[in-house]
Amino acid sequence: MAKVLLVLYPDPVDGYPPAYARDSIPVIDAYPNGQTLPTPSAIDFTPGELLGSVSGELGLRRFLEAAGHTLVVTSDKDGPDSEFERELVDADVVISQPFWPAYLTPERIAKATRLALAITAGIGSDHVDLATAIERGITVAEVTYSNSIGVAEHTVMQVLALVRDYLPQYRIVVEGGWNIADAVQRSYDLEGMDVGVFAAGRIGRAVIERLAPFGVRLHYTDRYRLPDEVEQRYGLTFHDDIRSLVRGIDVLTVHAPLTDETRGLLDDDLLSTMRRGSYIVNPARGAIADRDAIVRALESGRLAGYAGDVWYPQPAPPDHPWRFMPHHGMTPHTSGTSLPSQARYAAGTREILECHLEGRPIRPEYLIVEGGAYAGTGAHSYAKKD
Ligand code: NDP
Repeated sequence: MAKVLLVLYPDPVDGYPPAYARDSIPVIDAYPNGQTLPTPSAIDFTPGELLGSVSGELGLRRFLEAAGHTLVVTSDKDGPDSEFERELVDADVVISQPFWPAYLTPERIAKATRLALAITAGIGSDHVDLATAIERGITVAEVTYSNSIGVAEHTVMQVLALVRDYLPQYRIVVEGGWNIADAVQRSYDLEGMDVGVFAAGRIGRAVIERLAPFGVRLHYTDRYRLPDEVEQRYGLTFHDDIRSLVRGIDVLTVHAPLTDETRGLLDDDLLSTMRRGSYIVNPARGAIADRDAIVRALESGRLAGYAGDVWYPQPAPPDHPWRFMPHHGMTPHTSGTSLPSQARYAAGTREILECHLEGRPIRPEYLIVEGGAYAGTGAHSYAKKD
């Protein structure tokens, strides 16, 4: 019987369950590329419930305990005295969400002698040391596509919020003001701007599709080019690398995984080549940006705005400089954990668990690492390009 260790973010401060704003969530039949939605044998939750916090338990307790497995749920994940680190030593499976990541460092993996499977309930498995997982033969899986469209929507929202300067205008209203001149002195239209998309995978491509109707000129870079027909449909200009991409754009959106190649990529040097007054929206991973270089670029005016929802580390400490830098539109890491996304990745997590516990193969699109090597989606997105 397996011990499953599930790390989730804390419950709402006013208690669980919250009062929901709506009675249902939209029904989605398939993902845009035809990939099927998660197919667990059953689910023990109502889609639309808050599943990603401790009391929501991703809806997994009944299923696991009925089969004789043990489920431990905690939000206490950081430091050697954390419940996570104590429970890790004899856990067979670890599950966490990127929004509240249980960092699986080489040191922690060394202590977890029984660990066979690390599931990311969501997308983005960089909180697991993948090289060590490969060495140890640990399987790493994530619920590909479960929240991609939500992240793309959040990206578009933040692009518009920055360019139109929405947040200060909202603040003026809340504070009882009406000075239009104050409100519009940094407000622009997106129409006619050059927008660059760094990495056109599932999220990047969904951002391209959603921004095209705004009358922008679209640019992108990726390790592999999109088909000609797609480039033509959206009038896309391809760039060989990010240096070429950022030179001639007004807005950059970032959608690559965090790897050795992308860590710290948005640094002083790269930012200095961007047009004065550019905007960046990064919902990929905080560590793709050099934290202090972003602050400097906002203070100097090189950047007119920065937004996204990913930080390093997470949760961001109260004194993280991105909380206080000028002209930012950061949210906590929320874009991929809307209530509909939670329903999909909770079901996908159960599908992965069912496969693992019953000895059936996990779908390749969910796999990042398996059998001592990158596999499935991981072999495409995380492995170095040949
Ligand atoms: P995909 O795997 O579909 O897309 C990632 C793309 O990045 C692929 O096209 C890949 O190229 C490309 N890529 C990888 N390395 C490089 C590089 N060095 N230079 C240029 N392109 C590169 O992933 P998703 O679109 O689903 O997600 C992207 C990232 O977004 C995730 O890795 C995750 O970190 C983040 N994310 C954030 C969420 C949030 O809540 N904020 C939620 C979900 C994801 P190719 O495959 O062509 O080699």
